[in-house]
Amino acid sequence: MKPVKYCLLLLAMTLAFQQASADKVKVRLFSNNRIDALYASFDLGLYNLYANDSLLLDSGLGEGMTVELKPSPSGVYVAVNGYEYGTFKRAVLRATDTACILCLNPRNVKQRTYEGDLVVSCFDKNTLLIINEVEFETYLAGVVQSEIYGNMSDIFRIQAIISRTWALRNWNKHRSDGYNFCDYVHCQAYQNRCIRPDIMLGTMQSSGQTIVDGAGKMIETPFHSNSGGQTANSEDVWRSALPYLRSVTDTFSFRMRQSDWTKVIPINQWLGYFSKTHKINVQNDSIRNQLLSFSQPQRKAKILGIPLTRIRTDFKLKSTFFSVSVDSKTGDVVLSGHGYGHGVGLSQEGTIRMVSLGISYDSIIRHYYTGAAIHQDDKVSQRYVNNFVTEITKIIEEDKANPGKKKSKKDDWLGKLFRVRDRLDREEEYDPNKQEMEHEMKVEW
Ligand SMILES: [Zn+2]
Repeated sequence: MKPVKYCLLLLAMTLAFQQASADKVKVRLFSNNRIDALYASFDLGLYNLYANDSLLLDSGLGEGMTVELKPSPSGVYVAVNGYEYGTFKRAVLRATDTACILCLNPRNVKQRTYEGDLVVSCFDKNTLLIINEVEFETYLAGVVQSEIYGNMSDIFRIQAIISRTWALRNWNKHRSDGYNFCDYVHCQAYQNRCIRPDIMLGTMQSSGQTIVDGAGKMIETPFHSNSGGQTANSEDVWRSALPYLRSVTDTFSFRMRQSDWTKVIPINQWLGYFSKTHKINVQNDSIRNQLLSFSQPQRKAKILGIPLTRIRTDFKLKSTFFSVSVDSKTGDVVLSGHGYGHGVGLSQEGTIRMVSLGISYDSIIRHYYTGAAIHQDDKVSQRYVNNFVTEITKIIEEDKANPGKKKSKKDDWLGKLFRVRDRLDREEEYDPNKQEMEHEMKVEW
């Protein structure tokens, strides 16, 4: 076999393996900030501290303890409750079971909490590289919480399917940086662990579900806040025309938070922009008229040959879906726009409206992604998912029946949820047929 072909085969096998084993994910936290000091404390459960790969502190890290981590030219400085441990290439906080929550306080940045493990090294001599190693579905629930608002579990289910599809397609986006994703909009926002049971429920209901095209291949799943009543073709915003990213009429996005906007711009600034930046002769009556009365009853891609995406960027507009008029009193240019975001793919506010109307999650996904279908991964245990969904629904109902009831950390929904998850994990591991076979073998021998 030729070396190039062999390398490609190896790469394909590696990628397939990584996608199949997407149970844990590495996410860079605070990726949009330069963190020069981090204080980690412990909200739930116990942690071990490792320096490089050796155990430094065993199960002693729990409530009341604080680990201080700082960058230095020789590595990460580590101190626990003020006691200095030294400087290491890498410091790792490893959870001792599934019910563990870390509270992270970086200097000058708002506090956040996360589940799972934390691996801290130096990005450079003044900045920490902070990576959360966490269950993929736990990460997804955090993404869903950061990416969409609402109060019905199907809203979260849809966002989870979109975010899962995106993550599995882009699994190696930060491979060369040593992690899978950043926590910023460059990848998907992951601004905290999921703290809401209804979001966890929606995410779990969608376990193993992704969006595929007619050939069964996972699709790109762009989304935006509000389409303004019509989504955009992918080629009108980006380069390629994708068959599943077609413009569709979307009246579900009307009368929502981000449905409409206006922006007033002095007429000289508006015309001057086209004249200076795009060398257009705005003295010409016909051109001037087009610039002052441009209208979009349906979405257009360009104005006088200039992409509307460029105008949107230059004037910081909420969308490209706007019409132009002149205020008869002030003489200013008024842009009357619809929607918020690039307009391609799924409209989040349209989704919220459709869910409230009782439309099924798969119909909503097919409305926004033309010709797409939902794929269910057979490896995900439906028995596990169904049991989990039943239990968490019970927890939500109980909490609704007792509003304002004060609870300890172990008794709130997350503590209960952790115990449910642990029990189901153990049940899944226990395979009665296998146990019986082993027993029989022992008897025979
Ligand atoms: Zn990223």
